[in-house]
Amino acid sequence: MSRIKVGRSVVASTIERLQAGGRIGHERAVLWLGSGADRIDELYEPRQRTRADLFYFDRQSMQMLLAHLREKRLRVLAQVHSHPGRAFHSGADDEWAIVRHAGALSLVLPRFAQEATVDNFLGLAATYVLSTQNRWEEATGGTLLEICR
Ligand SMILES: [Zn+2]
Repeated sequence: MSRIKVGRSVVASTIERLQAGGRIGHERAVLWLGSGADRIDELYEPRQRTRADLFYFDRQSMQMLLAHLREKRLRVLAQVHSHPGRAFHSGADDEWAIVRHAGALSLVLPRFAQEATVDNFLGLAATYVLSTQNRWEEATGGTLLEICR
């Protein structure tokens, strides 16, 4: 399986947004969108309500996302969010139903991504891939993603 390519600017912008959430002590989530399956074309931050230990997309935010995906013919290839502490997939994360296709990725950054950089991103993020049995399985980020220009 070839790795999904993601540009350095998308990774840098992701880190900035997660860190901005962390400055007010809140989790934050962004989505990585692509027109095909092998490259991230766009970063999308849904409107969301956040707290220290959760984020939430309301119905209107979901409708805006779906309209955006339809209009630009994109789909969500990965979800990326921050945790206040350790990076892992919580029960709530398992149920969070933005990406539901086999091969979809979910990345979780520890400590509000405070120490994340473009270069350490794939090593720092806990990375999960949705299996064909609809289970999130932990994986090594560098085997699934490739950061490129
Ligand atoms: Zn989480």
